Amino acid sequence: MIKLENVCKTYTTGGVNTKALKNVSLTMTDGDYLAIMGTSGSGKSTLLNVLGCMDAATSGEYFFNDKPVHEMSMKQLHRFRKQMVSFVFQNFALLNQYTIYENVELPLIAQGISYRKRKEMVGKVLDMVGISELKDKLPVHISGGQQQRTAIARALVTDHTLILADEPTGALDQKTGKDIMKLFDVINEQGKTIVLVTHDPKVASHAKRIIYIEDGECSEG
Ligand code: ADP
Ligand code: MG
Repeated sequence: MIKLENVCKTYTTGGVNTKALKNVSLTMTDGDYLAIMGTSGSGKSTLLNVLGCMDAATSGEYFFNDKPVHEMSMKQLHRFRKQMVSFVFQNFALLNQYTIYENVELPLIAQGISYRKRKEMVGKVLDMVGISELKDKLPVHISGGQQQRTAIARALVTDHTLILADEPTGALDQKTGKDIMKLFDVINEQGKTIVLVTHDPKVASHAKRIIYIEDGECSEG
């Protein structure tokens, strides 16, 4: 269970304040599936980054399974992120010098998991997203849709419960985007909590709930 209470985020650059989030309150149960919609600059990525602890809120409270995330030290936040949250980005964010297999394996190395166990876990997740036969290729040698599958595999290979996705189909053609959304449906059915940012109402329709954000303020549709 995730709970945001009156979360505000203000960026200050060159003496100018931008209120990116204004008193956002939001509760999510385990296995929830939220789509966040809003125009460009409305605060979607900021909200996702606060949820994923990539960025700290300026004020307000954030509870994750009743733990006060807003009170955590840098070290605790780092651990929390490593254990709980996975990101999937629009531009996939794969490491180009590593193979598909190695890209997916990385978070498990970070967790100190043994070679044998890693091999089993990576094999399983590559199979699930349908790219087993590509495991020895480099990202530049596969299609955009296959790269996004790789990024999803990397997000799923750990036992993280919260999957955050920022415009995960934004760089894909419609048919490939549809396939990726089916994959998110399966992931959600398997119990992961998903928060996904999108411009596309068709993409948002896959979610259980739609949250609209406008000028930093959230409302549920
Ligand atoms: P969205 O993802 O909906 O396009 P963002 O969350 O990226 O919107 O941005 C919300 C607002 O905060 C915008 O006005 C944006 O310019 C501003 N903003 C985002 N990131 C930063 C930053 N690192 N520094 C200053 N302003 C930022
Ligand atoms: Mg954004």
